Amino acid sequence: MSTRAYGAHAATQPLQALSIVRREPGPRDVQIDIAYCGVCHSDLHTVRSEWPGTRYPCVPGHEIVGRVSAAGAAVDRFRLGDIVGVGCMVDSCRRCDACGDGLQQYCVNGFVGTYNGRTPDAPGHTLGGYSQRIVVDESFVLAIRHPVEQLASVAPLLCAGITTYSPLRHWNVRPGQKVGIVGIGGLGHMGIKLAHAMGAHTVAFTTSEAKRDDARRLGADEVVVVKNTAQMRAQGGSFDFILDTVAASHDLDAFTRLLKRDATLCLVGMPDRPHPTPAIAPLIMGRRTIAGSLIGGIAETQEMLDFCADKGIVCDIELIAAAEIDGAYERMLRGDVRYRFVIDTSTMGAA
Ligand code: NAP
Ligand code: ZN
Ligand code: ZN
Repeated sequence: MSTRAYGAHAATQPLQALSIVRREPGPRDVQIDIAYCGVCHSDLHTVRSEWPGTRYPCVPGHEIVGRVSAAGAAVDRFRLGDIVGVGCMVDSCRRCDACGDGLQQYCVNGFVGTYNGRTPDAPGHTLGGYSQRIVVDESFVLAIRHPVEQLASVAPLLCAGITTYSPLRHWNVRPGQKVGIVGIGGLGHMGIKLAHAMGAHTVAFTTSEAKRDDARRLGADEVVVVKNTAQMRAQGGSFDFILDTVAASHDLDAFTRLLKRDATLCLVGMPDRPHPTPAIAPLIMGRRTIAGSLIGGIAETQEMLDFCADKGIVCDIELIAAAEIDGAYERMLRGDVRYRFVIDTSTMGAA
């Protein structure tokens, strides 16, 4: 059936209203009427072809929340009316070691992205959550336990939440540790909230002096403005873990030098241009590591949603109409987002 969406026909074109077709739900499919969809910086990277391989028309959006409006006969985890979410993946091979370990994001045969992934459905690639309806296999649908009034603020947990939660868990962030979060955008503001909730002494690193007070409110114990070299030097060699969420190419040495011996700088930001090659000496001298991390598996995404529901954690959002997406992208590029734009899909008109 056809549904309203927002997407682009080319990298250089603004997003526009589109009509797209969703498959009829199969036996294991859940049909979701999307209420809200978050705007991730990856949406911008993809729709503007900053990363290679974008297929058009491109309908971004992988921070999806809504209500189940139909379910196939074999669906047993969801019922009509349930509040659910969909994140960055809608399928994977389900046979490889990574899938067997519940790490579908590292599927060796390639997971199917919620947008720009290969699918037998027309037009041959997946179309994402900037739309009013989506049909997804129930294995990739998440249950949401937050109060329904918070739904718009829950949407960005589906990418920004899990992408920061997963590395914080993997590197076993815990009370007594000092943890840095670099970049206070969609991912970074969740990194601050989650590191704080896990009991770590949390330090926010920002290029924006104006975010200092917000960072404290979000849960940071300290805030460092990265261009202040004296403040940066004062933090040298003191971190157990640093999570870098910055969406642009930048100097990593400033952060590797802040790590303790054996500690890790984990990158989750994926800029369109590479970072300058990091210096090796700070790595060798302190047996330090630079690592990366990709979103999180389905089971861990459910764990994160439940953790956030239990602790009352949601995202700080600015709700926008679909027609405002391009303006939101421009603000995101300036680092001017407090702290995630979320699209109200009812502004796309009647389905
Ligand atoms: P965002 O909301 O735009 O936040 C990025 C933040 O980086 C900005 O708010 C800004 O914070 C900081 N920044 C510093 N210098 C910048 C510059 N020159 N240009 C832009 N930002 C700059 O982006 P996001 O949605 O959090 O995504 C961040 C990155 O993670 C993107 O590259 C995205 O594609 C990637 N990502 C990766 C995964 C994964 O699985 N690994 C998942 C989702 C997204 P300050 O003002 O505090 O400096
Ligand atoms: Zn994302
Ligand atoms: Zn697999």
